[in-house]
Amino acid sequence: MTMTRNDADTLRTETSPACAVCAQPGRVLYEGLTDYLAGTAGQWRMLRCPDAACGLLWLDPKPLAADLIKAYATYHTHGASRARDPARLWHSAVNSACKQLSRVLELGSALGRQRRELRTMFIGSGSPGTLLDIGCGSGRFLNRMRGLGWAVEDVEFDPVAAARIGKKYGIPVAVGSLPELRYAQDKYDVVAMSQVIEHVHDPVALLKECRRVLRPGGRLVLSTPNAQSVAHRLYGRSWRGLEPPRHLHIFTTAALENAARRCGFQIQKLVTLSAESAGIYRASDVIMETQGGRRTRAASAGIIRSWLMRYREYRETLRDPHAGQDIFLVAAK
Ligand SMILES: [Zn+2]
Repeated sequence: MTMTRNDADTLRTETSPACAVCAQPGRVLYEGLTDYLAGTAGQWRMLRCPDAACGLLWLDPKPLAADLIKAYATYHTHGASRARDPARLWHSAVNSACKQLSRVLELGSALGRQRRELRTMFIGSGSPGTLLDIGCGSGRFLNRMRGLGWAVEDVEFDPVAAARIGKKYGIPVAVGSLPELRYAQDKYDVVAMSQVIEHVHDPVALLKECRRVLRPGGRLVLSTPNAQSVAHRLYGRSWRGLEPPRHLHIFTTAALENAARRCGFQIQKLVTLSAESAGIYRASDVIMETQGGRRTRAASAGIIRSWLMRYREYRETLRDPHAGQDIFLVAAK
């Protein structure tokens, strides 16, 4: 884990005492959180909405919207090269072997279906149409959807990530935030946001804008970390899903449902998923070790354990549907 602090890039902040979904004043959940992934300067406090029917988590103070970009200087979407040392190659081989083995073990299970459906945000089996993706990530999702016949466009607030994906896949990427770009209303069949809503300054404004640009009957599909996940319960402040200061709001299923309904959406699907959780367990282990200042487990053993934990989490979701790592929402205009 590289920790390169640059104090000249300290983010300016503003207070954010009230829940963005239900306006209740929050209570302190964590203090003194640091950017364990990219080393952005600063310590962060996370509040939780005290309403049991909401439970949203958020940063207070939170970075000014204009300064958020500074927290992405060394983010993974910038494609920084990683040293190919023998240990890393070995760990990558162990991880690939676990992944392949898990595919055999999950054959015919709901976990296998989740993993396959998530590759296309659960819309791959429908008829293709127009798709606006918010936050391009690696670009692989959009490339895959284009291959299935969808007319794809992307909006990305980070110009470095936008240029990288535009160049790599030749997909049109508009730079900015969706509300700023003022797209025509009633335009798209689907708006997709994979692991994006937790990054934005005003998630309710973003949901409203998603609804405005969707055609009547069009669908929003989104995934985001789940504040009630097994991994958050186990790791607490070391949970990878917290990711301060890039994750400004972390939802529960109830908070996301309330926010979507408030914006006029009809909820079609609201579940939690475990398909992508192995890496979260591994990263949370590393964060916990870093914070504790000692290594508690050999890296390859940690990788194997992370895949076992993914399966254990999936089993838990059969009993408690709120336990999965990620919330997945499908909502119609
Ligand atoms: Zn709330």
